[in-house]
Formats: sequence, structure tokens, C-alpha cells
Amino acid sequence: MTVHFPFDNSYAALPADFFTRVAPTPVTRPRLIKLNRPLALELGLDPDRLDSPEGADILAGQRIPEGADPIAMAYAGHQFGQFVPQLGDGRAILLGEVIDKNGVRRDIQLKGSGPTPYSRRGDGRAALGPVLREYIVSEAMAALGIPTTRSLAAVITGETVARETLLPGAVLTRVATSHIRVGTFQFFAARRNQDAVKALADHVIARHYPNAANTKQPYLALLQEVIRRQAELVARWLLVGFIHGVMNTDNCSVAGETIDYGPCAFMDGYDPAKVFSSIDQTGRYAYGNQPRIALWNLTRLAECLVPLISDDQDAAIADAEAALGEFSERFGKAYDAGLRAKLGLFTAQPGDREMIGDLLGAMTEQQADFTLTFRGLSDLAGNAETDSVRGLFADPTAFDLWLARWQQRIAAEPQDAATRKAAMQAVNPAFIPRNHRIQAVIEAAVERDDFAPFEELLAVLAHPFQDQPDFARYALPPQPHEQVLQTFC
Ligand code: AMP
Ligand code: MG
Ligand code: MG
Repeated sequence: MTVHFPFDNSYAALPADFFTRVAPTPVTRPRLIKLNRPLALELGLDPDRLDSPEGADILAGQRIPEGADPIAMAYAGHQFGQFVPQLGDGRAILLGEVIDKNGVRRDIQLKGSGPTPYSRRGDGRAALGPVLREYIVSEAMAALGIPTTRSLAAVITGETVARETLLPGAVLTRVATSHIRVGTFQFFAARRNQDAVKALADHVIARHYPNAANTKQPYLALLQEVIRRQAELVARWLLVGFIHGVMNTDNCSVAGETIDYGPCAFMDGYDPAKVFSSIDQTGRYAYGNQPRIALWNLTRLAECLVPLISDDQDAAIADAEAALGEFSERFGKAYDAGLRAKLGLFTAQPGDREMIGDLLGAMTEQQADFTLTFRGLSDLAGNAETDSVRGLFADPTAFDLWLARWQQRIAAEPQDAATRKAAMQAVNPAFIPRNHRIQAVIEAAVERDDFAPFEELLAVLAHPFQDQPDFARYALPPQPHEQVLQTFC
């Protein structure tokens, strides 16, 4: 029995300076600890065959499957605002692409599979903890309906990696509609290689935005489409309390997926200034800064595309500026509509913005739990007998006043309580990947080789919008002693 991957590789056919061919480095004792069977099926892979010693070898980078063309992709990027002309896949190797069951091209990439020419001083490896975090959070995002890379598998390497301490090593198999970033464009633009920028733009249009090809200005249309997807993506992040943690331009996907889960986190108590990332000293990537940073990153993309947009560079700059100018409106629309849905409002009325702002203000003041507040309001909309929300506010004065306004506001709409509750529950998750739960999963795996907590958390997060009474404890915020203040990559 051999494991068959129906590879159909397009990126490796681009010019030679787009990547470096490099094989994964073998590891000592690969052990498959998790295989995402439904995702395997979606990709046209046989999960039973993958779940084998040969599958583990492939997913650990020991064995190159037939048809793979392993490459490390070149890219640059602004890291915390500083331009680094050469980054690239320093610990990831793209095995190749497959066309999935829906006809969508998907990258299959090993992360933590050994050094590449882009590793700089890094070891090319990943520790088990961050691999589990990425697996859990990316799959949770997918279940929440948010565009994201996916996790196909996690393998323990049998080797240790040196971080602050020695940690078990692991490899994550990551699936993306592509791994092309704003930083990929920057790599060529910084080298004034216009032919390469154009070849990359054409590849991205063909792969992600085919309609742009039929417009008068395809490269402007490309920019507009990426802006639209990123605006909607970041709105979705804010609506579930997600903080990416490292929104460098090399972690900003031109396909509009959430990519590169490092020191990311979901917040418990609502606070727009919230930061978890251990490497974000200044709060550049704080929760509430994410829309502004996305626009900053998109402005870097626009700079790369301006030379392609029009022969008349003044006109091209004006076009790009107009496209960037639409970001705020796109974001605002998606965010406002999302908040209205979270509050069970079926129409938009004057005064809604202010009412919603007042709730968020009271939540900030009291650091009320973001997820539980909205989930609890869903129950209240369904005429729940007990108010689980009020207790989330240490001083409920402002909340009490707000609640009366909201109840008046929804009473003026014709939908009945059950309809409103169902609509609200469908957008307000009960379960998010809370940091302290992820931490507990990592500790069990690293210290006791126990993956049962990992499996249980994944199972709960696969149905975030369903009440799961047997697992109600997973909905709770951390006790003071369980709080995780920082996350690491
Ligand atoms: P990130 O902050 O995860 O987006 O990574 C930024 C850059 O550092 C990318 O070029 C990565 O490939 C590289 N990198 C991160 N960790 C390692 C590692 N352990 N070994 C080699 N390169 C790494
Ligand atoms: Mg990255
Ligand atoms: Mg990373």
C-alpha cells in the first residue's frame, strides 16, 4: 500500500528565484499523533493509508511522496514595521499542491521540517507546544467559519528542540489555498524585479481572483480584491475576539486566509488594548489595532503593485490610494453588520452604533468576558429565566441601563424570541480556544505524553455554536490562577 497524493504543482513552475528546491531533513522516530481525517478526504487523500508508518514518514518529512516537488518559498516582509528584504520559509517546506474535492487548489506544507536556505540562524524546527496551538486554533477558526489555513496532521519527531528549555519537536502539516503573502510581493519589488512582480501577480490572479483578469485594470482589481478579503477577515477576527499576535507583512496572506498561528490568542475579558504575544513589546498588534495594521500591510502591497497598475504612474498611485481608501468602509460594514448580528438585530437603525458602542464600553470598563457576554445575550433574547450576563460585570450599573435599551430595541422588531435566539447562537460561539485550555493541553502532551485533553478540546471546538452541556466547563474563562498572560511562537 502506498500513500497517494494527487499533486498538481503550479508554484514550482514559476521562475527559479521564487523558491529553492530543498528536501525535508529526516528525523529520528516519527510518530503520528493527529490526523485530520475529514480534511484528508476533502483533499482527495486516503486517511486510512495516511494513518500508517508510511504516512507518518511522509508527514514527518522522512519520505517524499510521489509527485511532490519540495520547495521553500522566498519572501521578504516588514517585521514590526522594519523591512527585512529576505525572510522566506525558514522552517517550512511546500510538498506541493493538490486540487481538492471542490476544485480548489490547496498547498500542502510541512512546518518544522528542518532547515532551508532561508533559515538564517533558526534550526528549521518546531516545538510540540506551538504545533498543538496552531492545530487547535486553526481548526477552531475553520469551525467558526473564518477563512484560515488548516491543519492536516501533527507528528512528533522523537527529537528535542532547544528553546528556553529542551522541548519535544514536532511537524505540522499545514494546508492553505496558497502561502503567498504580501511579503512575497515585497521580495521582488525590493529587488526592482518588475517581471517577477508581474509573474507573481498573474499567478495570484489566476489562482485566487480569476475575475480580475477580465477587468480593464487586472492589477488594480487584484489589489481591490485582496483589500476586500483582508477587511472582511479582520472584521471576523474582531467579532470572535481573536488576536493574531504577529501581523507582519510576511504573515498577511494575499488569499485572505488567517495564516501563521504563532503567539496568537483569543481574549477572555474584553479589552481593545489586549496583547498576548510575548514578542509584541509595544502593543503594535493589539486586538483593536488589527484593522489599522491590516491597512498598513495592504499599503505595502499597493506599493508593490503600483508599477503594474498603469503606465501613468500618477494615475496608478491615485487608483491605489482610492482602493486603499475603501478599506475602512469595507471593514466598517463587515464589522457593524457582524455586531448587529451578534446582538440579534435584524435591521439597521439610527442609534444602533451608539448602543453597541455603549455595550462595548461597559464591557471594557469591567473587562467582561467577550464570548460569554454575547452568548449570554443570545439566551436572554430567547427569554432565558436567569441572566448569565449581568454577573460578568463586577459593577453592573452601566450594563443594566444598556440592557433595558437593547430589550426595547429588539422588541420593536417582529421576530419572535426563539428566532432571535437561534440567529444569535449561530454567530455567538459558546466555545472558543481559550488560552488556559490550550496551555493545559500542551502541558499534558509535553509532560505526560497524554493527548486525550488535546482530542477532547478539538472535539468541543469542532461545534462552537452548539450548547454542549457535558463540556460546559470548556466555555468558562480561566480562574485567576489559570490565566495565561503571554503566548509564544
Ligand atoms: P514568523 O514570525 O513565524 O512569521 O517567522 C518569521 C521568519 O522566521 C520566517 O522566515 C520563518 O521561516 C523564520 N523562522 C521562524 N522560526 C524559525 C526556526 N525555528 N528556524 C528557522 N527559521 C525560522
Ligand atoms: Mg511567518
Ligand atoms: Mg510563525
